[in-house]
Amino acid sequence: MYNTKAYSAASATSPLSSTTIARRDPTEHDVQIEILFCGVCHSDVHSVRNEWSSIMPTVYPIVPGHEMVGRVTKVGSAVSKYKPGDLAAVGCMVDSDGTCPQCKAGFEQFCPSLTLTYNSPDKHKTAPVTYGGYSNSIVVDESFVLRVPDHLDLAGVAPLLCAGITTYSPLRHWGVTKGKKVGVVGLGGLGHMGVKFAHAFGAHVVVFTTSPNKKEDALRLGADEVVVSRNTDEMQKHAGSFDFILDTVSANHDINAYLNLLTRDGNITLVGAPENPLDVSAFSLIMGRRSLSGSNIGGIEETQEMLDFCGKHNITADVEVIPIQKVNEAYERLLKSDVKYRFCIDMASLKSE
Ligand code: NAP
Ligand code: ZN
Repeated sequence: MYNTKAYSAASATSPLSSTTIARRDPTEHDVQIEILFCGVCHSDVHSVRNEWSSIMPTVYPIVPGHEMVGRVTKVGSAVSKYKPGDLAAVGCMVDSDGTCPQCKAGFEQFCPSLTLTYNSPDKHKTAPVTYGGYSNSIVVDESFVLRVPDHLDLAGVAPLLCAGITTYSPLRHWGVTKGKKVGVVGLGGLGHMGVKFAHAFGAHVVVFTTSPNKKEDALRLGADEVVVSRNTDEMQKHAGSFDFILDTVSANHDINAYLNLLTRDGNITLVGAPENPLDVSAFSLIMGRRSLSGSNIGGIEETQEMLDFCGKHNITADVEVIPIQKVNEAYERLLKSDVKYRFCIDMASLKSE
């Protein structure tokens, strides 16, 4: 074992602060990575504050962070895909059983024994639970390490590992292509990636935002139209017209207002994961045979496909790079929808702590 610096929270009401954590020495299949950038996902906020206590209670101390990009510093003897000096990335998962039907089909994210990057029981017993990317170094099985296109801005790449794949996967699954009318609800970290991908796939993209000041940015990011969702008249103009809507909202909101915008057989996929259940009117679904579904990140193979797609099309997240000392402030700003459009921590700032 070796020690590395990290930021952790001691309880649901404590701020994140500097600490030292232990990591395992790389075993034969492991890759050790120096983390250069780590994105700040709203899931980090939900987890640190134990807002998902009924589904995934938080074990403290928690070290969040699941959007990492960095450089390989050491590899185990059986590692074939990486060598020291390579760029490498890690997302929301660090292990799974590899044998269940979900893993075999490339859907590790649905494996019943999935190990999430943070707050999952640590199989290696280095700590009670896994510790995430708000840290200078991490050790991960090579099967859960991703290759990074080397011409992209690394701070903008880090958020692809969660915000990127979480939006890419459902847009692909639901056949978003040219000729489809697609809505993206919420222009935050996930939402702005959803807009970039839906635009790249050729769809007609409409952004729904509660923040009128994001209108111009939405158009620049690839939206064809922008609707301020608090304006009922503007919403009503789109009634019954969408093939697909991706809902990325992190807080409670009226899902029926969006279901009613779907055409026959249209679908809304939830990727946002608010703390409390949403109310769904049966009539919003019955009328038009509409459906409501969900999606959880994406499998490793699809994550690599997404990164390669981003390399080919020069897609990265729009980031506000922050030193780790500003992370508590960044959480407060996320709660006010004040991010353009992903905070990304420059991990060099942790070295001086
Ligand atoms: P974020 O950057 O904070 O963006 C969320 C956006 O939702 C805000 O920018 C805001 O957009 C909108 N919003 C916030 N509060 C709202 C309210 N009360 N009513 C209506 N709209 C509101 O968060 P994120 O990192 O993109 O994450 C979004 C959600 O996805 C979180 O719940 C997160 O945990 C979840 N998530 C799920 C997965 C998965 O695999 N399913 C993966 C990652 C994250 P506007 O200003 O444009 O209205
Ligand atoms: Zn995330």
